Amino acid sequence: MPVTTPVAPATVPPPDTAVPQDFRALLRQDPEIGGILLAEAGRQATTLQLIAAENFTSPAVLAALGSPLANKYAEGYPGARHHGGCEQADAAEGLAVRRAMELFGAEHANVQPHSGSSAVLAAYAALLRPGDTVLAMGLPYGGHLTHGAPGNFSGRWFEFAGYGVDPDSGLIDYAQVRALARARRPKAIVCGSISYPRHPDYELFRDIADEVGAYLIADAAHPMGLIAGGAAPSPVPYADVVCATTHKVLRGPRGGMILCGVELAERIDRAVFPFTQGGAQMHTVAAKAVAFGEAATPAYAVYAHRVVAHARALAAALEAEGFEVTTGGTDTHIVVADPGPLGVDGRTARERLCAAGMVLDTCALPYGDARGIRLGTAAVTTQGMDEDDMVRIAGLFGAAVREERDTGRLRADVRALAERNPPYPG
Ligand SMILES: *Cc1c(COP(=O)(O)O)cnc(C)c1O
Repeated sequence: MPVTTPVAPATVPPPDTAVPQDFRALLRQDPEIGGILLAEAGRQATTLQLIAAENFTSPAVLAALGSPLANKYAEGYPGARHHGGCEQADAAEGLAVRRAMELFGAEHANVQPHSGSSAVLAAYAALLRPGDTVLAMGLPYGGHLTHGAPGNFSGRWFEFAGYGVDPDSGLIDYAQVRALARARRPKAIVCGSISYPRHPDYELFRDIADEVGAYLIADAAHPMGLIAGGAAPSPVPYADVVCATTHKVLRGPRGGMILCGVELAERIDRAVFPFTQGGAQMHTVAAKAVAFGEAATPAYAVYAHRVVAHARALAAALEAEGFEVTTGGTDTHIVVADPGPLGVDGRTARERLCAAGMVLDTCALPYGDARGIRLGTAAVTTQGMDEDDMVRIAGLFGAAVREERDTGRLRADVRALAERNPPYPG
């Protein structure tokens, strides 16, 4: 790991930043970390959070995260714990499980995975043996680390075959998926990606999995919030196991979850605890319950649809600025753009954009070796931005990447746009 130089903590917190929690007591006791947290709140409020995996949780979710359940050990499951004093932990987890099942129409939910990767690890542990073959989206096309990266447990313990996309359309090449499934006879097929901006055809994946007798695992870490809000199709009716995160579009705490049918419920539960994890983080489980409650509201459904509309507006506006958008647009919150036509690569574009306060990451492009930029509209939509703001953001992108304007002036425009839409209005 590279050693990063610690940044001097902001001992004077930005006074005009509305923060989601009262940090005063913390600041008095520990001004160093208190200052860092306030400076981070300031950073989030004065720059644009366009990382596709990020969002702003509600003050209610943050309150649950900062609650006394953080003190509780609760190995096991409600009604069958290894520790005493779990009455409220059981109640919180029971509520989270029931809300997840209802929200997604699933027969079983496990809300304990510490992260999306832990959820995938548990799904593999439940269904596979080391050495088994798994067919997943290849990493150059948007497969996640847990889909066979050499440095990840998945790449070390399983044999991965990777499917890709059609080089012209950028869409999943289902004929190739079927051909690979027939040739490799995988034990499981994984659908889901970190940067594919379209919906997987879950029904077709199910058909291919059935043909070769494979389990179908949907890794819906990214679109789970869109699914909750009815803005994306659900894999629940088709996949044997659905893995997800709770912190992306879903807007809950950092964490994972797994949905499955009753017949796999016990295997999944045992794969989470005790196979891959110890005690669950009960404050996070409580915060997941809060997020599921929020995601079941009509307001959240409106939000989910706005996220997609904003991503489409942003994709179109970026194309107008000269970027090339993979698949020609998006059906989700994700936009992947190639700045190549503007004469720069993804890394340079990210550096220029981040310097101007537009925070995003690079990602593999589904063709060639060049990297593109990946952005998402979940956070800016939570802030209350609208489609006109997306056009403004695209204009700022063009100016920053083409170095048309002074970075300081761009940064001021970005800050003004962010501050018109505070993530935590005071
Ligand atoms: C984000 C993501 C994960 C992992 O989530 P973490 O919480 O970062 O471990 C897994 N799979 C996919 C497809 C993802 O997008």
